[in-house]
Amino acid sequence: MGLPHQSTANKPPVALAMVWQWISAGVDPALNGTLRRRQYITNAVPALVLSMVLFYYLLFLTLGNRELAHSCLQGMPIPAIGIAWFRWRQNCGQPPHYWKACFICQTTVLAAILGGQGTLFGSHFYFLLFFLTAPLVVPISDRRGMTIVCAICLGWFSFFQFMQWPATASVQSLDPSIISILNLGVLLSGSIILFIALLAGEHFSDALLNRIELMASTDMLTGLANRRAFYARLAQLQYRHALDQHPFCLAMLDIDFFKRINDDYGHDAGDKVLRHIASLLQHMARSQDLVCRIGGEEFAILLPDTRLEQAFIMCEAIRNKIAGSPLPHGSSELHATVSLGLAQWQASDSEQAFLAATDKALYAAKHAGRNGVQQRRQAAPAL
Ligand code: GH3
Ligand code: MG
Ligand code: MG
Repeated sequence: MGLPHQSTANKPPVALAMVWQWISAGVDPALNGTLRRRQYITNAVPALVLSMVLFYYLLFLTLGNRELAHSCLQGMPIPAIGIAWFRWRQNCGQPPHYWKACFICQTTVLAAILGGQGTLFGSHFYFLLFFLTAPLVVPISDRRGMTIVCAICLGWFSFFQFMQWPATASVQSLDPSIISILNLGVLLSGSIILFIALLAGEHFSDALLNRIELMASTDMLTGLANRRAFYARLAQLQYRHALDQHPFCLAMLDIDFFKRINDDYGHDAGDKVLRHIASLLQHMARSQDLVCRIGGEEFAILLPDTRLEQAFIMCEAIRNKIAGSPLPHGSSELHATVSLGLAQWQASDSEQAFLAATDKALYAAKHAGRNGVQQRRQAAPAL
């Protein structure tokens, strides 16, 4: 049989790991996923704003307009101080509230507009961008906060849109073609930021969903699939069988005299044995098999594309392996054996009848003296 180790996640590149460590610093892992996601984005805000300001500073320098570049320099201390301030709060284990992120975004744009750029090339459209991205940092449940943040963003945007703020003389004397390029720059950079924000939001949602699905389908003690995952896969196999008649089998496994292990060595030793047997099963299963813990000391193995004879050989191998793999425990060893019941899905089976037949085979294995494998010989009548 193959050795289907659980897939090991690839390690992210060092730079990415550092960024991750930085934006997740101080965030309470016990917070629910969406609150954590909002906190990560809040943590990243000053650095994102600083990169934006730097980008414009370099752009204006390239265009040869020192006055505009200087107006960017005026806004630079705000996100720079913000980074230091946020870092300090993160290190204290109290990552900053979204108000602070909103404050940094808005004062930086205000500093640029009032510092000479005016509204000539549409810097005030950033307030619209802040409005659009507010749900990424403000919890949806915080209606008051959301209303205030959105009202401030829209308020600033409307104010500058209708009042227009004059730019300095040298900015006004810029070539109209340069002004339209700068207009386009605001539109493009705003769209790119919005796109990245949406992408990041989707990424976090996907990761969260995967985590929830994994938690809902995993047994905490052994890390194996749980009863819910078992029934889901069983339904899938039945569906596939109805389409292509591929054979599949189910093995139910129960640890023999497990209560004695608990009684003689304690519950913790019992748990250790459960994890040990789970690990042996996982290592012996093929990649297409699903090993589940469906009850206290009961396991089920779904064996797709497998006939009864082949499944029987696999079950015997499992039984032998477990019987021959005592678990070191202090100065002694914990010996455990298992009994297995096996059945192949018949077209005439109902799910209930199939499970009952496998259970019956397991009972027969117990009855025959344990540490053995029994299989269903003929289809159980449908209930
Ligand atoms: P048999 O050979 O007939 O299966 O005997 P058994 O002692 O294994 O069967 P029984 O059903 O009487 O005992 C099962 C025991 O499994 C009882 C319960 O205390 C124990 N158990 C169930 N879940 C856990 C668990 O998560 N951890 C530990 N340590 N023990 C558990
Ligand atoms: Mg049992
Ligand atoms: Mg048992």
